[in-house]
Amino acid sequence: MNKGENEVIDPGFVARLAGFLGFDEERVQHLFEKNYLAKNWGKHDYLFRFDKEISRIERGTVLYEKGDSFEVIMGFPKIRRAMVLDPTLKKHFNGLEKVAVEEKMNGYNVRVANVKGDIVAITRSGYVCPYTTERANVKLNLKFFDDFPNLVLYGEMVGPDNPYVPKEIYGIESVEFYIFDIREKNSGNPLPLSGKKKILEEYGFLQVESFGEFPLQTAAEEIAEIIRELGKIEHEGVVIKDPDMVLAPLKYTSSQSNCSDLRHAFMFYNEAGRDFMLSRIVREGFQTVEWNENEAEFEKRYMQLGESILNPLRESIRRVKNGQRLYEEVRIRVRNPRTATEFENYLKRLGVDAIFEPPQPAGNEYLINIKKVNKSTNDKTQAIWEGELW
Ligand code: ATP
Ligand code: MG
Repeated sequence: MNKGENEVIDPGFVARLAGFLGFDEERVQHLFEKNYLAKNWGKHDYLFRFDKEISRIERGTVLYEKGDSFEVIMGFPKIRRAMVLDPTLKKHFNGLEKVAVEEKMNGYNVRVANVKGDIVAITRSGYVCPYTTERANVKLNLKFFDDFPNLVLYGEMVGPDNPYVPKEIYGIESVEFYIFDIREKNSGNPLPLSGKKKILEEYGFLQVESFGEFPLQTAAEEIAEIIRELGKIEHEGVVIKDPDMVLAPLKYTSSQSNCSDLRHAFMFYNEAGRDFMLSRIVREGFQTVEWNENEAEFEKRYMQLGESILNPLRESIRRVKNGQRLYEEVRIRVRNPRTATEFENYLKRLGVDAIFEPPQPAGNEYLINIKKVNKSTNDKTQAIWEGELW
């Protein structure tokens, strides 16, 4: 991926930033040279992003100069996964009376904040996404950002008009922000769940579903039941949280969501990470044993797992054999056609090979179909058909 240019950074700026971070100037200089710390582009080039975790500063963290200091928007911390519910929950949340269970929605992670008066949407890696930023300004109650310039919304962008993770499963017509965390700038400290809920209700934001709080001792059973129900409607899973947000959350997902991830991964098998594929298969093994499944249930599981691997493979291989190219079709909906152009340039800079079709009017907005070309799987499959070795 193109991580941007090695730009010359003003030495005065390096000195100020080093002072703020408590690092040596050489270290900051080195971070820039390695592109571990890099600029966003164009009108957001004042916004710096950490491309790598540095001294416990989360990857995707962004910072910018404000007044005579800096302001930091912390990256969203990785949520660790429970492979089995029992005893993992008891061990991880040891000392808590109850844990809160929220739905884990399947879209893409976004932070929305007031950055020097502009409302910007930042991706997990710390890029200002022009599409998400337009949607945030159209969809969110912006009064929140005036009232709380020091708070950041952390949420999931879900629905079909989604260039990264399009899903029809939520009954959303276009795309919506579902908020799951509110955190402070600089410290990154999250609000307790009760405080979060109160603010989200007050400003009319959509929230991820809360399944309630469960006594730690029986949470594993309750969650297994919730996961089975979520699986039936192809929903992803849950995030289990300390109501005070002091202990780190854990996640746990349904078999259907593992399989749906595998379908996508094997469709584009040369793009997908090996770890991504393997871990989803291993999860199926642990879940069937923890849930004590009988032969009939087990058979259903392995049929589904096998299908989700082989079916997309067969489809991709056939398509290439028949001379078609492999691509993924996604769609965005914009208010201003210029947003689509900005988004196209943005994907180009990220090294994504995407073909934008002309905008189609839809009410007071425009729909744009995008073909994301999966060059690597395409070329690999083509080469194999031409007799290349693996
Ligand atoms: P995956 O989404 O497949 O778990 P990931 O690498 O993004 O991949 P994590 O680093 O564990 O996983 O982050 C958890 C993800 O879950 C984030 O992308 C976050 O946006 C999303 N998410 C969805 N719903 C919630 C929720 N209720 N609470 C916290 N995170 C949530
Ligand atoms: Mg996700």
